[in-house]
Amino acid sequence: MTTYSHSKLSTFEQCPLKYKFGYIDKVETEIGESVEAFLGKRVHESLEKLYKDLKFQKMNSLKDMLAFYNEEWTKNWNDGIVIVRDEYDPENYRKMGEKFITDYYNRCTPFNHTRTIGLETQNFVDINGYKIHVRIDRLALASDEVYEIHDYKTSNTLPTQSKLDQDRQLAVYAYGVKTMYPDAKKVKLIWHFLAFDKEMSSERTDEQLEKLKGDVLESIKEIEQCKEYPARESTFCEWCEFQPLCPLFRHKFEVEEKKAKEFLKDDGVKLVNLYASLYHDVKLKEEKLEEVREELVAYAKQHDIEVVFGSDMKVSVKSYPKLSFPKKEDKERKAFFDAVRKIGLWDKLAVVDVYELAKMINNKEIPKELLAILEKYVEKGETVRVSLRGK
Ligand code: SF4
Repeated sequence: MTTYSHSKLSTFEQCPLKYKFGYIDKVETEIGESVEAFLGKRVHESLEKLYKDLKFQKMNSLKDMLAFYNEEWTKNWNDGIVIVRDEYDPENYRKMGEKFITDYYNRCTPFNHTRTIGLETQNFVDINGYKIHVRIDRLALASDEVYEIHDYKTSNTLPTQSKLDQDRQLAVYAYGVKTMYPDAKKVKLIWHFLAFDKEMSSERTDEQLEKLKGDVLESIKEIEQCKEYPARESTFCEWCEFQPLCPLFRHKFEVEEKKAKEFLKDDGVKLVNLYASLYHDVKLKEEKLEEVREELVAYAKQHDIEVVFGSDMKVSVKSYPKLSFPKKEDKERKAFFDAVRKIGLWDKLAVVDVYELAKMINNKEIPKELLAILEKYVEKGETVRVSLRGK
């Protein structure tokens, strides 16, 4: 039986191709760990040590904690670690970790508000026969029947409360805790956003956890039915270790390996350069054409004529009455449609926005049962869109 985890489900949601590379093909890449992941690991293991030692009645001072963190940082650092943001160096990141630990230590000392019952837990919870991984940074008891799931975040973004109220990761863990400890009357979800020295929390009702199970099963079903695994570009690509294999980035890696002269001989590079220069010319000409068009209209108006003559060609400048109707976002739109129906012209004039419909189908915005009704009218083919962007 395949096991799943929140991060496995999230990877598929982010990019099905990344999921395939990582979880199906299990591709080993030469691209090293990101500095953000490295920093996260060092901070997590430092806080794990803090609470582990406390279980043995050993209270580390802040100085001890920072010494441990720095020792682990130095011991584990290697040249393969990737820093995407050129403007920062390893020292900036190391100091960030020091600050995270210092702030947390000062905020939570003397660490006796709750009883720690698990650190970096490794459990599985069953959802309809699927094993879902539950890895909690720190599981604690606030009182006999109140459990707390603590999660440390080292990212530089602070989510909104409503996002946390819908967070799947800790909700799955809450379901796991309720299953493992049936006496749990309450399970509090607590995030420590270390970059902001901020604690945020949320809870889930039993009904919400039931719904969550359904959502998780839906996601698993989607993964198991997936056949094509398309690449889905997003901000996550910046940190994706599979870029050298991904069709969205592979060419960049192939040409980067070439020397400057060979680089310019690559057919792909030549074609893009030509396309970019032609595209630029066309854009300039389009802008110029629009300017001349406006000047022609002004000229015709000024001379009270409808045709302007050139050497070999002439341009007709004619004005027509312009009629406008309520637009999509206008309040009167519905009443306007009703009026068209009322005068019996609806069937003659109404058209389905097939472009929008195709977009909705491609974005999976139409429930499967409804899509099945349309299926026989959909002719499937392939269209190619070529778009020019900065690197
Ligand atoms: S680089 Fe982006 S699009 Fe390509 S596999 Fe990775 S996440 Fe997906």
